[in-house]
Amino acid sequence: MSSSTPLAPVVDRLPEGIVHVSLPTPFPVGPVNCYILLDEPVTVIDPGMLWDDSTELLEAALTAGGRSLGDVDQILITHGHPDHFGAAGWLADAADATVICGRAEVPKITMSSDRASMIDVIDRLGIPETMRDTFRAFYEGVAALSHPIDESRLRLLDDGDTLTAGGQVWEVHVTPGHSVGHVSLYHPDERVLVSGDHLLACITPNPVLEPDPDSVEGRRRSLVEYLASLERFIRIDPLLVLPGHGPRFQDVPTLTDGMRHHHDSRADEILEAVRRLGEATPYELSGELFPHIQDFSIMLGVSEVLGHLDLLEDDGRLVRSDGHPLRYAAA
Ligand SMILES: [Zn+2]
Repeated sequence: MSSSTPLAPVVDRLPEGIVHVSLPTPFPVGPVNCYILLDEPVTVIDPGMLWDDSTELLEAALTAGGRSLGDVDQILITHGHPDHFGAAGWLADAADATVICGRAEVPKITMSSDRASMIDVIDRLGIPETMRDTFRAFYEGVAALSHPIDESRLRLLDDGDTLTAGGQVWEVHVTPGHSVGHVSLYHPDERVLVSGDHLLACITPNPVLEPDPDSVEGRRRSLVEYLASLERFIRIDPLLVLPGHGPRFQDVPTLTDGMRHHHDSRADEILEAVRRLGEATPYELSGELFPHIQDFSIMLGVSEVLGHLDLLEDDGRLVRSDGHPLRYAAA
């Protein structure tokens, strides 16, 4: 969740052959960064959603780069959240382009996610049944701002693949955490990383709740997975990061230090709340930490809490009772 000041030095530079356009979204996160790689194959990364004047802005950015809609060869969706992919189906149809994403993101971008598993998970977390209508209304509203994606256009990426885009060969890094099939692209010669929402200068990415019917808990351990992925980006050490929201930046080690510090103090805060309440569900703790959030943001609040409950449990500072709903108490 938010932190207002950048956790790493902001950089203005943009590599040659890449155009940036900031596209509006209706969400609290604000605009999404779309990048256009002008050389062939002409590639649009995260084309935003069908909202406000977003598609006009995207067309104008292509024109400014000496390209038109019809020149677009491929669209890369870094992850299946609506602010990043909503307009992808529209652009793909307009340009007759390929849509590329991480393999695990397909149910999200084709809006065919397993609802029964999600309902099971949110029930276990103590989220009241009355919230279901709120969440359903959110998903329906979002679907209205997204254009369906023709599945015959899809090309799926796995970790370790390479992708030719904008005349260059990029490494594909699929790292779960914010979203299970999240893709970042890295150019090893120029040391440029297109990071989607995995690394952001001003926001610690929400460890968004994702069902996983094959696991004991019925869900991914999103924050644990997220933190485990950070080592990789420290090791590759990009000189320039092009993120999905907010300013471009450098110095991933400083960023990740700041993020770890944020997560440590958030975990302490949650442990404190557990002690105060004696025993609590993730939903109750979210209400304790974020009393003012409403509607769909409640889901993000519960995700944020749950991620830290996993960390505290792994550290042996909390115990979980496996009832229905789950309850946590101090160890
Ligand atoms: Zn985003």
